Parts: sequence; C-alpha cells; structure tokens
Amino acid sequence: MNTQISLIQKIDALLPQTQCGLCGHRDGCLPYAKSIAEGEEANKCVPGGQPVADALAALLNRAVLPAEASIWPVQQDGRPQRMKAVIREDECIGCTKCISACPVDAIIGSGKLMHTILTDLCTGCELCIPPCPVDCIDLIEDVQPLPTESLRAQEQQDLRQRYYAHIQREEKRRINRKGPVVRAEINTTLFARFSTQSDSVPNIELTEKTDRKNLVQDAKATIELAKIRTQIKKLEKQLSVREDANKRALLEDLNQQLNALQGE
Ligand code: SF4
Ligand code: SF4
Ligand code: SF4
Repeated sequence: MNTQISLIQKIDALLPQTQCGLCGHRDGCLPYAKSIAEGEEANKCVPGGQPVADALAALLNRAVLPAEASIWPVQQDGRPQRMKAVIREDECIGCTKCISACPVDAIIGSGKLMHTILTDLCTGCELCIPPCPVDCIDLIEDVQPLPTESLRAQEQQDLRQRYYAHIQREEKRRINRKGPVVRAEINTTLFARFSTQSDSVPNIELTEKTDRKNLVQDAKATIELAKIRTQIKKLEKQLSVREDANKRALLEDLNQQLNALQGE
C-alpha cells in the first residue's frame, strides 16, 4: 500500500499542478496520478505536453507516447504556451462565482465589488471562465521568461499547497452554504488521505460528507436551478425578438429567484 502511495506521489511530482482537469480527471493532478499508477496511459496531461509524457514514461519504464495536443502552440521548452487570465474589470459585476472556481485561489474580490486576478499565481487553467455570467475574463499569453527546472519544481509545490488549502476552505464552506456550488464538488477523500502523507501540504479535514439532509436539499436546489435557468433562457430569447412588459417582469422575478437559490 505504501509503495503505491509513494509511486502516486512520484507521479504527482512530475505533473504541472495546474489542476485544470484536461487529462479527464476533473479534480486535478492527484487523481490522474493515482489512475496512472493503476495503469492509465501517462500522456494525457495537456499543459505538461511532451516533456511530462516523456518524464512519466521514464519513471514508469513504459513506452513513450505522443502527448495529448493542446490548442496553444508549443513553447521552446516543448510545453504548450503558458497563458494567464485577466478580468475586464469595468465589466465585472462582483458576483464572486470565479473565486470558488479557481483551484489556486488566484482571484481576489468580494460580493458586489470588482474582482481581480493575481497574475503571478494564475496558471491559465481556464476554470474561472465558464462560471462568469458576464463573460468578462480573457486569456492572454504569459510573456514571462520560461522557468528553470528548479523554479518550476518550486512553482509546482506552491500550486499543490494552494490547491490543498483551497480544497480545505471549500470543504468547510460546503457545510454552511445555501445553494449548490458553482463547480462540481471536489472528491476530497483522496486529498485528505494524501495530506496526511506529506508535510509539505496543508492537512485536509473532512466534514460530514454523507449528511443525507444536505444531499437531498442540494439535489432539490439543483433541479430547481436548472428549471429556472431554462425558463430564463426562453424568456431572453423571446424578448430579444419582441419586448413585452409582462415577460420582462417575469424575467426579473426569475433572476431574483435564481440569485436567492444560489445564496447571493
Ligand atoms: S495539469 Fe495535467 S495532470 Fe494536472 S489536471 Fe491538468 S491535465 Fe490533469
Ligand atoms: S484565475 Fe482563472 S485561469 Fe487563473 S488559475 Fe484561477 S481559475 Fe485558472
Ligand atoms: S465571475 Fe465574472 S462577473 Fe463574477 S466576480 Fe468573477 S469576473 Fe466578476
């Protein structure tokens, strides 16, 4: 068992810690590391590109496979172009949805206030873009010089720590929140287990994950939200063709219901 944990840690150490989920593992690098140790192909990390696929093949003594392609061009170091997110701040409505979506807590701001991204911390993972209701987050090329190997290792360690801290914070908030979270909940059990195996990441304490009452309430709220969103979309479409005072009032009412359900 400990051999398996140590292998997963070695694999995880080679992964970029962007936590983007592009490898098909929604909860980030550690679940992919575990799956690789269990036999999954080791070429699926998109931001890692060919250098990470090669390093994993060498570690695992497996055949080298071509890395999963990125939509971005390849940089000098063989990895895809590094990107950064920026918020068009004059368009931001301060809804805070991007904050819990960011795995490394690179966004600051509070309710109804403009938000901003701490450029040095942003990995360009894109996870903050879909939840933004006004589509005011852009991706731009990172123009900083490429990191040396030791700087990269330091950066990865820092991102790993920030992700564990993020998971712990979201886990605590989960119990008190009124509506469903914007991003699907992270499966914290694996991270909690690994947090006890390493001194270099914060410990994750699990809250009562199987509180049935909360789960039922969440499921109901999610269904209700989906219904309201569908109605809103229909009304917006109709109103874009022809203005109608009753429909406009109904739309406002639905938007308020949506905000209330989301706990704003
Ligand atoms: S950085 Fe690579 S391993 Fe980590 S979540 Fe993204 S694609 Fe998966
Ligand atoms: S700010 Fe957005 S793109 Fe940057 S790390 Fe956070 S979620 Fe990813
Ligand atoms: S999700 Fe968009 S509108 Fe909401 S706070 Fe973030 S950047 Fe601003």
